[in-house]
Amino acid sequence: MLPTSRSLRLALYTLLIIAGAALAATLAMRHAVRQSMVEDAGRANQQLALYATSLHTLIERYRALPAVLALDPELRSALKGAVSPEQQEALNRKLEKINGAAESSTLELLDRTGLAVAASNWRLPSSYVGHNYGFRPYFNQTRTQGTGRFYAVGVTSGIPGYFLSSAVTDDDGQFLGAMVVKLEFPELEREWRQGSDTLLVSDARGIIFIANQPGWRYRLLKPLSDSDHAELKTTRQYDKQPLTPLEFQSLRRFDDNSDLARVDGPDGKADYLWESLPLSAEGWTLHLLRRPQVAFEDSRNAALAAAGLWLTLVFLLLFLNQRWRLAKLRQRSREELEQLVEERTRDLRTAQEGLVQSAKLAALGQMSAALAHEINQPLTAQRMQLATLRLLLDHGRVDDAYKALRLVDEMLTRMAALTGHLKTFARKSPSGLRERLDLAAVVDQSLQLLDTRLRDEQVSTVLHLTRPAWVRGDAIRLEQVLINLLRNALDAMQDKPCKRLEIRLEADEQLWRLSVIDNGSGITEENLPKVFDPFFTTKPVGDGLGIGLAVSFAIVHESGGRLCAGNHDKGAVFTVTLPIDLEVHEPC
Ligand code: ADP
Repeated sequence: MLPTSRSLRLALYTLLIIAGAALAATLAMRHAVRQSMVEDAGRANQQLALYATSLHTLIERYRALPAVLALDPELRSALKGAVSPEQQEALNRKLEKINGAAESSTLELLDRTGLAVAASNWRLPSSYVGHNYGFRPYFNQTRTQGTGRFYAVGVTSGIPGYFLSSAVTDDDGQFLGAMVVKLEFPELEREWRQGSDTLLVSDARGIIFIANQPGWRYRLLKPLSDSDHAELKTTRQYDKQPLTPLEFQSLRRFDDNSDLARVDGPDGKADYLWESLPLSAEGWTLHLLRRPQVAFEDSRNAALAAAGLWLTLVFLLLFLNQRWRLAKLRQRSREELEQLVEERTRDLRTAQEGLVQSAKLAALGQMSAALAHEINQPLTAQRMQLATLRLLLDHGRVDDAYKALRLVDEMLTRMAALTGHLKTFARKSPSGLRERLDLAAVVDQSLQLLDTRLRDEQVSTVLHLTRPAWVRGDAIRLEQVLINLLRNALDAMQDKPCKRLEIRLEADEQLWRLSVIDNGSGITEENLPKVFDPFFTTKPVGDGLGIGLAVSFAIVHESGGRLCAGNHDKGAVFTVTLPIDLEVHEPC
């Protein structure tokens, strides 16, 4: 691959990894933000329930008050006819006292037309006394249903409040008027203002009438219909208060009563977690608006963790990929190495076979010289024998002639044996030839081949041969091994006046142990590990090739045996061990 495209690919990968990390961080951050919002919304919802309970408790505390007061005989009798100024003052004082004790905002008594005949605030300029509230829905509700409730801005006082009313009836159950308690929530609003949340209460039309923050009251959460407008005008519920819509839009909805909303509130545009809780008893809805507070550290940690996880995953994948590639590469180089070893082994085997062959040829050369010498002598002798034979026959000495013929015959047989060996000696033995053969016979053959030299050099030969010693191998090649060993032994004893050659063949467990022991020079400690090395020789140039033992070693190994060299107290010992062949000889 070109270096530019390589670096391009690298750059692309790096970019991908960074982009992946950034994406993971962004997603994690978003998730963290959302998660934290959901948790925050859950908490806000719980708080909202607490606020709802406190509002509900407050209203419940006063719910029974008008019903109880409506039973008061003094009030009931006052409403039966026209109320005299003395009666009115007494009633005013009474309501004032009860109002103080009950800690309600105002108490008022309306007659059957809705006219306030007495009120706890009779002393104030904003006194209800003398005003008619027949237009208020709670009055009509009370007349028809017995009780009424209504949140409204006071038309006289201008102070908003919750009106709870109960019908005052005579003994026959006839409607005489209404007892009304007005509740204001300044305490509640003050209490709610302490938190940082915005708390709102809206009515069934979606008009906010309680708010703990300035600017939120009298805002519309949904548009008013024409009939709404008409009704508001009649009931003067919010009197002269201008009702303006509150602009908001939901950004994310967590559930029906839980949103993330962008609100164009009195403090400008802002995002809020908006929790709502319907208050079914009053038909109102309580709202809690909270600025979402996602801890920067939390989202940053989530982003870092996600990016870290992503990078760990990527590097783990890269690491595994690299290992896999390396393993593949190793596998390939192992295979290549194995192939190389195989090739080299094949080459070596070929070379070794070549070496064996050349050693044989070298031996053949040496043998030829010996053979020429060996054959020349008997040939001359035979010529003389033939002349003698002719003379004997001329003189009719047939018996002596027979004797002379036997000698010629013996000499010819020996010569034939010699040439026969030489013929097979030089052939390239087919590799893997493993015939069943007698190792003792191999020793015999080898000694026969070297017989002349043994005799010439007056070597005393001692044989301890166990017969038959069956092994598997190539007779010609094993013979070559033995001839090498014997010839080396003879060479080593060259300068010794008394030459002794001992050959032992004996069984040792599963092996035949064949030892060639001489009383020659022995092998020095230094040379002992080298004698089987090819071309190692201590003989003068022209005498030794240094290949005999190397080839012999290889042949013995090939036949499944071992060849070792060592010394005894007077010379060298070479030992060939070969596995015993136990197979019964099959008849041909
Ligand atoms: P070469 O006979 O041509 O030298 P070999 O491989 O047959 O080659 O022998 C290697 C060497 O081992 C010889 O030169 C000799 O030093 C040593 N050697 C072998 N046989 C004997 C022995 N019987 N006694 C002493 N040295 C020996």
